[in-house]
Amino acid sequence: MFWADEIAASSVGPQVVNDSKTPSGTVHVGSLRGPVVVDTIARALRDAQVPVELRYGVDDMDPMDAQALLTPDAIERSMGVPLSHVPDPAGDCHPSYARHFALVFVDTFDGLGIRPDTYYWMSEIYGSGAMDRYIRSALDAAATIREIYVRVAKVRHPADWHPLFVVCENCGRIGTTIVTGWDGERVHYECRPDLVTWAAGCGHAGDVSPFGGRAKLPYNVDWAAKWDLFGVTIEPAGKDLSTAGGSRDRSDAIAREVFGNEPPRNVPYEFLNLGGRKMSTSKGVGASAQQIVEVIPPEQLRLLFLRPKPNTAIEFDPDGTDAIPRLFDESDRLAAATAGREVRGELPPDHERVFAMSLVDPDGDVAAQAAAYRPAFSHLALLEQIPGIDVLERVMAEKAEPLTPRELEILGERRSAARAWLDTYAPERARLTVQHDALPPAAAALDESQRAFLAALASGVEAGDWDGETVQTAIFATASALDLPAGRAFIAIYLALLGRPSGPRAGWLLAALDREFVIGRLREAAGVGVQA
Ligand SMILES: [Zn+2]
Ligand SMILES: [Zn+2]
Repeated sequence: MFWADEIAASSVGPQVVNDSKTPSGTVHVGSLRGPVVVDTIARALRDAQVPVELRYGVDDMDPMDAQALLTPDAIERSMGVPLSHVPDPAGDCHPSYARHFALVFVDTFDGLGIRPDTYYWMSEIYGSGAMDRYIRSALDAAATIREIYVRVAKVRHPADWHPLFVVCENCGRIGTTIVTGWDGERVHYECRPDLVTWAAGCGHAGDVSPFGGRAKLPYNVDWAAKWDLFGVTIEPAGKDLSTAGGSRDRSDAIAREVFGNEPPRNVPYEFLNLGGRKMSTSKGVGASAQQIVEVIPPEQLRLLFLRPKPNTAIEFDPDGTDAIPRLFDESDRLAAATAGREVRGELPPDHERVFAMSLVDPDGDVAAQAAAYRPAFSHLALLEQIPGIDVLERVMAEKAEPLTPRELEILGERRSAARAWLDTYAPERARLTVQHDALPPAAAALDESQRAFLAALASGVEAGDWDGETVQTAIFATASALDLPAGRAFIAIYLALLGRPSGPRAGWLLAALDREFVIGRLREAAGVGVQA
């Protein structure tokens, strides 16, 4: 059974699925795994007729702790300040730093078919007073919470530490304050210059009522409070949070022992390793979510994240490799299998469900989507590079029928993805310049057996279909009839057309070109050196 359907099958009663994010800067593509996982679970629950609410929260009361995107004077001013109070570094497009980075990320959701029922901002939740009762319970239970940190995580806080961060009334920072007393109405806090290394407090100390947005609970306590406030029943967490003694364990203990509620079901998910490196929001490695959606359309991006079980790491190395074309091929294979066509290779269990979940529209017609004509990505990447070709006309000729509106949409999406791929990640061998004007000088390196092959191939493709599959078959058959190793046959073709010994899939390359031109060129290359 597909993993999300297993979760749905074992859920009892209405479900609240929650995910949240601290908007500390540019979000990398790996961070989309959480949103895709929760969306997939919510869809599986809906398909199983289970009432479900999908919530997505922004932890914008968290302190600013990353300098990367700030100007030097803004660092001085903003480090340690709640993200919702830091100005938008990109100008005045959003009211705050938090809104800017959260919305740039969230804007990618809709295109991916991720449509939470509810978005919430923790600055507003705290401001509304909804967290006040949890703040009171946590302060009353400060000793219990200190004991939980020691027992679960081996973290020892000072004996007067209280689980709350107050926004300093003097300097506005939240990351630099420590609460050292609570009288049931007001907390005593200090804004310390040396409490954390990444921000300096102003030295102010004071007594203040901690309610209505003037303070925020520490991460683990805040998490447990949200579960109770929103009635969360399922909350997947990244593997970094799900380790023994980690954040999730601490929040579970706080939920049970302080707020008296059972924590939601965890669905721990692994990282996306981009090119072998763990993609991290703070280190600036890899592509941002915003950039990757230019090259990978929504269906394929959803598939990348939802096909593996959440607890398996995803290795994805798009730079200079065929990883992106292979992702398209896999998506096409699942579509073909779902449409009842025969496909090569093994299929994942419940492949129709995997395909259906990759679709952007949760209510779309899966059979119609599966049956839609999907031109191969590598083929399009090739066509895009050949001057003078009408790609639409070519694709319609290959389908031998006009394209439906949905197929035109798929084609348009893939053409721009192919162009973006060629501009960014594509390996050198995928880029080509067909030497149209004259036989490339490099063709002088062809030996006798390769020339004989080119001559035979020219005759072999004079008649019959002119498409990638047919020509590829002809190449293999001709080489084999002449006892020429396939590798040497391909080199001969590349030298004759591209002037270099490597290139994209030869059958598709030839079929993308004008047949008369190809036959003429193969003969010309075969003839060169006959005089020698
Ligand atoms: Zn902005
Ligand atoms: Zn201060």
